Amino acid sequence: MEQNKDINQFDIPLAKRTYLSNSNSTLLKKLLIFSPFFFLLFSFAALRLIRNIELGIRSNLNFQDQRNHDHRILGHLPYAEISKENLVLIEPNIEVHIDMRDSLLKMRKEAKKDGIYLVFLSGYRSINLQNDIFYSLKSIRNQEASERARVSAPPGYSEHSTGFAIDIGDATQRETDFETEFENTDAFRWLIKHAAKFHFKLSFSKNNKFIDYEPWHWRYEGSIEALKIFENSNRNI
Ligand SMILES: [Zn+2]
Repeated sequence: MEQNKDINQFDIPLAKRTYLSNSNSTLLKKLLIFSPFFFLLFSFAALRLIRNIELGIRSNLNFQDQRNHDHRILGHLPYAEISKENLVLIEPNIEVHIDMRDSLLKMRKEAKKDGIYLVFLSGYRSINLQNDIFYSLKSIRNQEASERARVSAPPGYSEHSTGFAIDIGDATQRETDFETEFENTDAFRWLIKHAAKFHFKLSFSKNNKFIDYEPWHWRYEGSIEALKIFENSNRNI
């Protein structure tokens, strides 16, 4: 009886140990069999993760590149030609975008009240006309394209083709038309003080790193359409 008891006491723990030990070894065997598979799975997941990170960085770089590259030619940004139905003639030879007409005429009227006589020199210019200006007139001066581009936009790259640009002179000092000396006229001083009220902005200031200073050249930014057109220019001066 006592012997049986001993056997029972001995057997039970031994049986348990054997069972546990078997279970562990089976698990270990399974792990060993499947380990190449797990290794491959892990490698595959890691490669996918690395690839995704790379793609993320690359698309971010592309986005940055698109933002930095604004398609300038010789410092000038591209501008589409305004559709004819948006053009209005405000005086002989001067056509402008219909959205800018009222503001422009109001500005001239207000200047006149202050004894300042603004004269409009050039408004809308077609891409064809710009082509003539850039390739015919400037080449007479024996200038290379890069030299010409400092004072005149290549065709397709002029703010004048949008109808939102206007060249302004002083009616009492016509010798300063299209000249840097225009900055010394009363008309220019008046514009610097008041043009923003009428939504006009000097396009090519002294700070512009691409294009020569043009005190006579102003653009209209008083509509969403105009702001969209000049967004690139306002972002990267
Ligand atoms: Zn101009």
